[in-house]
Amino acid sequence: MLNYECECGNTTKLFATGDRDEQGREYVEIEDDDRLAIVIGERSVLFRCSFCGYTYRLDQI
Ligand SMILES: [Zn+2]
Repeated sequence: MLNYECECGNTTKLFATGDRDEQGREYVEIEDDDRLAIVIGERSVLFRCSFCGYTYRLDQI
C-alpha cells in the first residue's frame, strides 16, 4: 500500500489489514515496526528510522 524508504536503505511497508471502521476506512499496519517508528504528535507525525535514527516530519495540514 505505502512504502517507507529511508536514505540509509531501510525500507518497510504499510499494509491494509482488511478491517474497516464504522465509516468504511480501512486500518493499516506497519509491516515491521522494528524498522520504523511512527510518532503522532499534536500537530505533526514523525517517521523515525530505527536503523539510522533519521526522522522525517509530516505536519498536519
Ligand atoms: Zn535510516
